[in-house]
Amino acid sequence: DTIGANLDRAVAAWPDREALVDVPTGRRWTYAAFGADVDRLACALLGSGVAKGDRVGIWAVNCAEWVLVQYATARIGAVMVNINPAYRAHELAYVLKQAGISLLFASLAHKTSDYRSMVDEVRGDCPRLRETVYFGDPGWDEFLRRGTPDLAEDLRVRASELSCDDPVNIQYTSGTTGFPKGATLSHHNILNNGYFVGEMIAYSEQDRVCIPVPFYHCFGMVMGNLAATSHGACMVIPAASFDPAATLRAVQEERCTSLYGVPTMFIAELGLPDFATYDLSSLRTGIMAGSPCPVEVMKRVVAEMNMAEVSICYGMTETSPVSTQTRRDDDLERRTGTVGRVMPHVEVKVVDPATGLTVRRGTAGELCTRGYSVMLGYWDEPGKTAEAIDAGRWMHTGDLAVMRDDGYVQIVGRIKDMIIRGGENVYPREIEEFLYGHAKIADVQVVGVPDERYGEEILACVIPRDPADPPTLEDVTAFCRDRLAHYKVPRRVEILTEFPMTVSGKVRKVELRQRYGSA
Ligand code: ATP
Ligand code: MG
Repeated sequence: DTIGANLDRAVAAWPDREALVDVPTGRRWTYAAFGADVDRLACALLGSGVAKGDRVGIWAVNCAEWVLVQYATARIGAVMVNINPAYRAHELAYVLKQAGISLLFASLAHKTSDYRSMVDEVRGDCPRLRETVYFGDPGWDEFLRRGTPDLAEDLRVRASELSCDDPVNIQYTSGTTGFPKGATLSHHNILNNGYFVGEMIAYSEQDRVCIPVPFYHCFGMVMGNLAATSHGACMVIPAASFDPAATLRAVQEERCTSLYGVPTMFIAELGLPDFATYDLSSLRTGIMAGSPCPVEVMKRVVAEMNMAEVSICYGMTETSPVSTQTRRDDDLERRTGTVGRVMPHVEVKVVDPATGLTVRRGTAGELCTRGYSVMLGYWDEPGKTAEAIDAGRWMHTGDLAVMRDDGYVQIVGRIKDMIIRGGENVYPREIEEFLYGHAKIADVQVVGVPDERYGEEILACVIPRDPADPPTLEDVTAFCRDRLAHYKVPRRVEILTEFPMTVSGKVRKVELRQRYGSA
């Protein structure tokens, strides 16, 4: 199926069910109204001369228009390019040129970002960019008026010319380990993945999904939007960008059944001073994903947020994204201690990165995946594509994993984050998981920094529970003594108030390494 055809099916099946709620503006759409607005925007795109395969950029924080653009571009066979809303002018210019974007949709402004003035700044450098349309601006309504009724027939013809293997999106990776890469994904890739993610947590037209994660990233637009619409569930936008209180308020007021977040978002919600006053009784499930999910945080989400069926997903932008997921009937150990088992129709193997040979179950190695979910390639970067996807179509994830005897997968860490101290492989994840148990530590990231004697030394970057009483190096080493092998014990502690983050909510360890690596 194409994404457009799938939406038609949802509109026919559940016309009167709610499809989308934009909480900040109070606007709501039923599936019938949502389908009609998508068609109107799709006609406006046709009326503006957007051809099949043309790249249409979207540079915006979460709002209802974002979702309309997602489905309308898919419907006419355009390739939507998700641009990170945290980008500044020069980064925008890079993406506009790299992807050859001719039409751009953007937010007007959000917090300290004035999107319009940044577009004005780079427009001269980007000759292919013909037009920019801003959400919440009179220009948006003018644009919609180009979708005249006579274009409906063109829309039908265009839809009939599309194949599910056509590219529909260029989605950028988070840029956690370096420069973001643009993954080109087809309808087949992401629609199937969204559908199966929804299947795993048993979405139906009764579900209301609270999506505080950015749409620009696959977590929001695939695991959120496509999972919801392929099952008739409702997408609820709590705020334009992540706000823990607004998120819980939206869950309470919209009676959401499902809540998404990267671990840091759940930590922020659980840490709200008035956390106990929110009514979260409507919640049943949700997804935690994107970076290592600490066992303690998962347990609290299950117990204190009423999310008995919460699921962990593991995946990457390049694989549409989800490769493994916990299941509804998993016990607490599997639900909190693993990233689940392989998704339907996806293959997984764990190989020795040096030899490429599959390792024994229970042994750490690089996770590789193959199947419908593997991207078409990095946009206009055949060299990088060939490095990531081998001749056998296996995607090399760069993540270290263990396949257990019961088929459940544990992520040990990223190859790039692995510390080699005096010849011993050290996985930061293991030390972080251990340090979460320290009473003075609210959050912790462990990285390797250069060391003359051992090659690399272990640094713990700590956000203390009480800024006035941070843990000292002695506290940390005393806590680790006799409970961690000596070569895993941090030799340096830095106290921080926050970590450098990507917009998708991941800690940029690469930046921590740079910051403290030379000191
Ligand atoms: P970049 O590739 O630009 O450095 P990125 O890899 O963070 O950034 P994404 O595609 O957003 O970009 O994230 C995929 C990565 O996130 C995975 O390769 C993995 O390292 C990590 N990840 C995702 N889900 C989980 C999870 N449940 N547990 C541990 N790690 C996860
Ligand atoms: Mg990556």
